[in-house]
Amino acid sequence: MKPLGPVPAGFATIDGELAIGGRKASDLVAEAGRTPLFVYSRERIAARVAELRSALPQQVALNYAVKANPFAPVLQTMSGLVDGFDIASGGELTMVTAAGIDPARVSFAGPGKRDDELEAAISAGVTLNLESEGEAARALAIAARIGVTPRLAVRVNPDFDLKGSGMKMGGGAKPFGVDAERVPALVKHLLAAGADWRGFHIFAGSQALDAAAIAETQAQTLALAARLAAEAGAMPPKVNLGGGFGIPYFPGDEPLDLAAVGKALGAQLEQLPAGLANTAFCIELGRYLVGESGVYLTRVVDRKVSHGEVYIVTDGGLHHQLAASGNFGTVVRRNYPVAIASRFGAPVQEEASVVGCLCTPLDRLADKGGFPRAEVGDLVAVFCAGAYGASASPAMFLGQGPAAEMLV
Ligand SMILES: *Cc1c(COP(=O)(O)O)cnc(C)c1O
Repeated sequence: MKPLGPVPAGFATIDGELAIGGRKASDLVAEAGRTPLFVYSRERIAARVAELRSALPQQVALNYAVKANPFAPVLQTMSGLVDGFDIASGGELTMVTAAGIDPARVSFAGPGKRDDELEAAISAGVTLNLESEGEAARALAIAARIGVTPRLAVRVNPDFDLKGSGMKMGGGAKPFGVDAERVPALVKHLLAAGADWRGFHIFAGSQALDAAAIAETQAQTLALAARLAAEAGAMPPKVNLGGGFGIPYFPGDEPLDLAAVGKALGAQLEQLPAGLANTAFCIELGRYLVGESGVYLTRVVDRKVSHGEVYIVTDGGLHHQLAASGNFGTVVRRNYPVAIASRFGAPVQEEASVVGCLCTPLDRLADKGGFPRAEVGDLVAVFCAGAYGASASPAMFLGQGPAAEMLV
């Protein structure tokens, strides 16, 4: 038997079923009218934000990285909980605007922003995190043409990366950000061009569970921001320190020591270099805010045995859960937290693989895990489904289409 990932703490059982937000899985599915279904818990999101607020220094603002989960009710909930929103496309700009979020709270990073996306963002008053000198030139030209002073920050490609990070996004040659040594010249150029220069965006990696590594990266980020500010001869109004807080997905993963991260950051902010004395700071988080709030529910449509191995075949799959299937940036396939939702907490009775309905061997949600015996009609839960599930899976593969989504 292979181990399953850790089920996030705090999920209850009602009548032998998994409950989310105080409601049984079968009731949630009945309300949605179909499976597969993503259920996100408002209460869990709010609790996570509260934990962050109490652990992090008060002066550090909290941004939500929309790409983790852009479901409209989630964005509306976030609007009352976090300070800012980080988007990475014109499509996400449309989504945050539709959710009633003030564009002044929004910053826009990401390589390959088209002219129409730049124009929409500049005219709405969104801060652009510039990814290159070429993008800066296009943004300045568009702003001049439409007669708006653009809000421009510079995304820095740092000369370090977040250790133990699941996805490295800084250090060495990268499509993201402007190489640190070229940043001061770009800042001077933006100021000379009359832009509203908003500061720096420095993001060094994602999915880190090691508090010491995050603290070290934050210290390096502050030092880099101070150095670049001094070289540019300008005080950055704001520095986005990145994020990278990870959640446990796999067997053996331990939750991040948030108190340690907050304490280290507090100490660093108490001894800021003079060049950052009037700077506002924020961090940007996606999966840490919403990942553990979400559960993917899928129905068992078949149960079969092949060469002695049990397959629980569901109506869901990698088209909604690419990461859980092990096909989204993982090197070695390991099991996510998966359970039989309609027999939650029941004792393990057999070894089984949970597979999806797609006609490809890649479509495996759990490999040789230990489960209570599941029958046709049972519900399977994949946990940690609140981030990069619906938003980062190929829903149209094999003509399947998107899953239902619900915020409770
Ligand atoms: C994806 C991304 C995030 C969010 O990453 P998480 O691991 O979900 O917290 C934050 N900032 C930038 C620039 C990103 O690209």
